[in-house]
Amino acid sequence: LASRDFHPEDTVITIGDVKIGGSDLVVMGGPCAVESPQQIDDIARLVKAAGGQVLRGGAFKPRTGPYSFQGIGVEGLIMMAEAGKKHGLLTITEVMTPEYVDVCAEYADILQVGTRNMQNFDLLRKLGTCNKPVLLKRGFSATYDEFLNAAEYILAGGNPNVMLCERGIRTFETYTRNTLDLAAIPVLQSLSHLPVISDPSHGTGRRELVEPMAKASVAAGANGLIIEMHTDPDNSMTGDGVQSLFPDQFAALLEDLEKLAPLV
Ligand code: PEP
Ligand code: MN
Repeated sequence: LASRDFHPEDTVITIGDVKIGGSDLVVMGGPCAVESPQQIDDIARLVKAAGGQVLRGGAFKPRTGPYSFQGIGVEGLIMMAEAGKKHGLLTITEVMTPEYVDVCAEYADILQVGTRNMQNFDLLRKLGTCNKPVLLKRGFSATYDEFLNAAEYILAGGNPNVMLCERGIRTFETYTRNTLDLAAIPVLQSLSHLPVISDPSHGTGRRELVEPMAKASVAAGANGLIIEMHTDPDNSMTGDGVQSLFPDQFAALLEDLEKLAPLV
């Protein structure tokens, strides 16, 4: 079902007046984690003002260590839903377990599967029965074939609205947190009809590399970008402040992107 052979036309996912997978570029911006009503409201205002269409933010965080901040849970979903509604943005949030799919789907417009869960098949099956679009992140050591098979689980369950997200893979290089695989963008678009989104934030782990890799992703044909932005990155509650853009950098990037591809 994920294959271009089966479905020659590009899939376009329409949510409200936002189309993902067409000729317009979709930008999803926001913090790694929802921290407080004030934080997510401030950031939502800035994402909207810069021309973004989707507010990102994690309420459930997949942390490498069990003692790190794990996200604020359902309260965070509620805060983000309110901020999204107030500022006219769609919302995307990560869901980590099948049990939380329903509550996340109640509050968010798009559900994100993180890199660590790309092959959580029970989660993928549950998302197949859900009526919200899913952004599936590539496992950090997954081949294209494994990635497309993971998408297949969701499609096979009856949910046709899946987008593929390249977020960097693990290589021998340690300077960057991950290696953003730019070739994945045209390869996935040739193998599959599903929209392809690039995440230059997790794909590099370094703020100064987000802008060039975002532009490179758009030049390579990405249908959208998911970018971390924070009003106070140095004090963010996850370690991802180092890769989060400051609001003025985010706004300047979107202004430049507008010249490469029209924002919806
Ligand atoms: C995130 O988007 O904050 C995140 C945890 O992403 P990934 O699953 O790609 O590491
Ligand atoms: Mn993050």
